[in-house]
Amino acid sequence: MAGGQYEQVLARLREAARILNLEPGIFEILAEPERTLEVALPIKMDDGSIKVFIGYRCQHSTVRGPAKGGVRYAMDVCMDEVKALSSWMTWKCAVAGIPYGGGKGGIRVDPTQLSEGELERLTRRYVYATYPIIGPEQDIPAPDMGTNAQIMGWFVDTYSILNGVYSPGVVTGKPVPIGGSIGRREATGRGVIFAVRELLIRLGKEPTEITCAVQGYGNVGSVAATLAHELGCKVVAVSDITGGRYNPRGLNIPEITKHVENNRVLEGYEEPGADNISNTDLLTLDVDLLIPAALQNQITEENAADIKAKFIVEAANGPTTADADKILGENGILVVPDILANAGGVICSYFEWVQNLQNFYWSEEEVNSRLDNIMTNNFAEVWDFAHEKDLSLRTGAYILGVKRVVDAIKLRGIFP
Ligand code: GLU
Repeated sequence: MAGGQYEQVLARLREAARILNLEPGIFEILAEPERTLEVALPIKMDDGSIKVFIGYRCQHSTVRGPAKGGVRYAMDVCMDEVKALSSWMTWKCAVAGIPYGGGKGGIRVDPTQLSEGELERLTRRYVYATYPIIGPEQDIPAPDMGTNAQIMGWFVDTYSILNGVYSPGVVTGKPVPIGGSIGRREATGRGVIFAVRELLIRLGKEPTEITCAVQGYGNVGSVAATLAHELGCKVVAVSDITGGRYNPRGLNIPEITKHVENNRVLEGYEEPGADNISNTDLLTLDVDLLIPAALQNQITEENAADIKAKFIVEAANGPTTADADKILGENGILVVPDILANAGGVICSYFEWVQNLQNFYWSEEEVNSRLDNIMTNNFAEVWDFAHEKDLSLRTGAYILGVKRVVDAIKLRGIFP
């Protein structure tokens, strides 16, 4: 894989810029994140020692609205990664048609190694350190890998104390009793399955004819696997960091979800007819549908030629490298790209923020039906545009997203 993760984004941006015939200055604006911040976070550990963690926030673009995007707690978090993830948020929000730019942040930490108290202190210190640049109208964080609703609860509390006003709109993905939206936790996985449903309709296939493998059983993968199963697909393989299970006759997804809820990991799960499978072997299984719902850079030029799935719906951010895209395209594998397929999370974050600003809360039915409408319309828009112009769905989605950001830059003009 050439270059870092941000290079993966630039490769797609260059392709969109070439097709859109963008002037070089506009390309440069899109290629350089507006603002980056690196912070040192000293924390008193439970044993009395002091540890310093490094945190980041990147605001790639605020042209279409406040920066929006999650906060990731993981050991590989670095500036290159948050730059890549924040620019994906810019394109994702533009494709989704919601009034946000793109941001992302994170802390280099393994959250499973911290006590709850340490995690809370680290989160509160991160909010303090990023306070000058975040806010309901500036930059609105949310959960991502390694973070959850409780962390967002500490987030909103710390920000509100510093701000002197209760400000639930500063962060989304909060617990429901303190201003979170019903349906937000499931929204990314639910949106992925709306994309699967729309894809199958266009291919003239019934869900019951489809075998499916899901890589990743976290917040996104577990919901995607559950809803794929409920839609009627045969989910034959799932995995998480501890490994995977494969049952060609279809896995018992409700039992797996129960096991993971109780044990946090898939490890220890057994069912008759299911074998162990590694994360890498899962990707090359002979299935109809592959849903990567774990990390970025899973499908690379090394394994792309071995992928046997007929279609890939990207639930993770950036699971496929730009080099792998070419190979998948040559092999006729249809990819529904991340910036379209996994937008359900940020679309529901937008609903949460709107509810916070209005202090008026919606029912689950209203949240899910609005999410369905937006996902279905966006899918149709990208599908029709890509087919009309004879482009891949990824390039089609990038062009739609990039063009919306460019139009906004031109309408706002360049200051001063
Ligand atoms: N972390 C999620 C994503 O990558 C959600 C971001 C948000 O809701 O702001 O799309």
